[in-house]
Amino acid sequence: MIIALSGGVGGAKLALGLSRILPPEELMVVVNTGDDFEHLGLSISPDIDTVTYTLSGLANREVGWGRHDETWSFMETMESLGGETWFRLGDRDVALHVVRTRRLRAGETLSAVTADLCKRLGIGPRVIPMTDDRVRTRLLTEHGWLDFQDYFVHRRCEPVVRELAFEGAATATPHPAFMAALADPRLQAVVICPSNPFISVEPILAIPGVRAALVACKAPVIAVSPIIAGRAVKGPTAKMMTELGLDPSAGTVAHRYADLLDGYVIDHADMAEVVSIDARVTLAQTMMTTIEDREALARTVLDAAAVLRRRK
Ligand code: GDP
Repeated sequence: MIIALSGGVGGAKLALGLSRILPPEELMVVVNTGDDFEHLGLSISPDIDTVTYTLSGLANREVGWGRHDETWSFMETMESLGGETWFRLGDRDVALHVVRTRRLRAGETLSAVTADLCKRLGIGPRVIPMTDDRVRTRLLTEHGWLDFQDYFVHRRCEPVVRELAFEGAATATPHPAFMAALADPRLQAVVICPSNPFISVEPILAIPGVRAALVACKAPVIAVSPIIAGRAVKGPTAKMMTELGLDPSAGTVAHRYADLLDGYVIDHADMAEVVSIDARVTLAQTMMTTIEDREALARTVLDAAAVLRRRK
């Protein structure tokens, strides 16, 4: 069994690579839910949706969110009626949010709804929200505290970030299947996908018990850097680092995971950083453009984990 910790776009790319080289029952993808929010009366889980759309082949790879086979009548009509349109919801995507919202209101857990939707979308690996409890990422900026999607989508990540908080995390319970898998002697590796550390991975680590379980876990913990040559492939990871007074580099990400990391995969372009990283470093091509890139990086990560297992 392999556990992959994932946010949205970057995480989903590697999760897809892993899903193509592992039998479905051997992969569990644990997904950040700090980005979740309620909008137009709907319960929206952006990272879970990015992962499930990616694993089912439905994702829109150009924009990095939503479905590729989308139509936009709902949004166009909203616009003509003066409704809120800053968060783009395609017609097919809306259907998923409506189904999830109704089921959550009827008392089902987010993980139960996600498991059923995955089955209906033909996804083999288990996709599990980090928790079934409510956790909401908020950011302190020059405009005060902002809700995550207000910062990320509405204000296009423009505000300067001073501090982050994961509301509800301190009293949340990690998903029991996630904790059980971490303690399972059959666990082969935990892969921290190349996701934004501040808004995708650290919300998962902020849930009581998760960080300690990762440190204690017998299997190697191995991360892939989301930073290549000092830059994020997409999104505000490098911008946030600079704003938080950190050097935007692969090494900075490794330092944030330092207590739990056994292995770290960085790009060939970042070779000079090897000396500053306190984990076994593997150099690879970490830019995932094609499907072959995703599979190759997934193989590199699993091979590196196998070497670490023999050492641990
Ligand atoms: P979000 O929740 O949609 O922001 O997605 P994530 O947090 O999962 O992913 C954002 C991070 O993924 C950014 O820091 C990107 O640099 C990183 N990323 C995206 N594509 C790639 C890629 O092909 N390779 C690597 N190494 N990182 C990537």
